[in-house]
Amino acid sequence: MLIGNRTPTRVLTGDRPTGPLHLGHYFGSLQNRVRLQREGVQLFLVIADYQVLTDRDVAERLQENVEGLVLDYLAAGVDPQETVVFTHSAVPALNQLLLPFLSLVSVSELRRNPTVKDEIAHSQQSAVSGLMFTYPVHQAADILFCKANLVPVGQDQLPHLEATRTIARRFNDRYGPVFPVPEAMLSEAPLLLGTDGGKMSKSRGNAISLSATADETARLLRGAKTDSDRRISYDPDQRPEVSSLLLLAALCRQTDPYTVAEEVGDAGAEKLKLLVTEAVNDYLAPMRARRRELAQDLGLVRELLRRGNARANQVAEATLTEVRDAMGTPVY
Ligand code: ATP
Ligand code: MG
Repeated sequence: MLIGNRTPTRVLTGDRPTGPLHLGHYFGSLQNRVRLQREGVQLFLVIADYQVLTDRDVAERLQENVEGLVLDYLAAGVDPQETVVFTHSAVPALNQLLLPFLSLVSVSELRRNPTVKDEIAHSQQSAVSGLMFTYPVHQAADILFCKANLVPVGQDQLPHLEATRTIARRFNDRYGPVFPVPEAMLSEAPLLLGTDGGKMSKSRGNAISLSATADETARLLRGAKTDSDRRISYDPDQRPEVSSLLLLAALCRQTDPYTVAEEVGDAGAEKLKLLVTEAVNDYLAPMRARRRELAQDLGLVRELLRRGNARANQVAEATLTEVRDAMGTPVY
């Protein structure tokens, strides 16, 4: 795949190992990752384990969450032979990029980032840490260490991606052209809402996991927030919760949300929720079956991580050498 008929695409994106992936991840980013990979694009997936600590004091159940993420990737169609999956903490050279990158942003730029503000509002930390403020710079290192030029993400990540673009441009201006200036890739569902009407998030207790059972899915959707208007219509501005449910059903059925709204008509939110439940459970059934099968043997998952970490280390070492050369840092 070519961007602007120039550069072959390399994609970096990833997730924090804070819990199982949910429908927001799938329709916000994961589905696009799999599509790009099928077009032959080189995919790097970072499991951002250090970044778990941005909004909580201690990272819990890391191994279970890391391996669970890999199972979710594989079940969704990520090809273990083609894709580099690695954990942030296993690639020290990547973190070496942080220090020069930090010198390229101002404190007020870090303070202004709207996603950081939102994450502080939902933070479980005893006090807002320096890691929270420097989070976008970590992400710049994650993206730029492998010179990715395309980043499939949800809407919440756009300010972070803007920070990465600024860092790449400033580095290139100061030291010479080393980094691409990457583009975000948004999906049709850049901000899927959770059952409480806020952004669906692993850590906010409002998510429907890809790996949930059909019964759990039904229970969670029964409790989803809607409104009292029995006539169901697609209107994301005025009726965000109902519209997000319509969009979800439409994505699962590969149709559009207006068609789904017409089908429900004036049968009310209860009917809508039943329809969404069926659409989601039908769509996810093969993925869920594949995941159960893969979970029988975590050997494949661990091998994938070992290989991915080794490859990411090679790439990060090479980039770090280029960065040191560009900056005139002597190496003895
Ligand atoms: P946490 O609550 O722990 O931050 P999260 O659900 O926000 O978890 P992340 O690991 O922070 O998930 O995000 C991984 C990727 O998924 C990012 O690209 C993010 O933009 C995307 N994403 C997360 N939630 C949604 C959502 N509700 N709709 C669309 N994309 C989403
Ligand atoms: Mg998040």
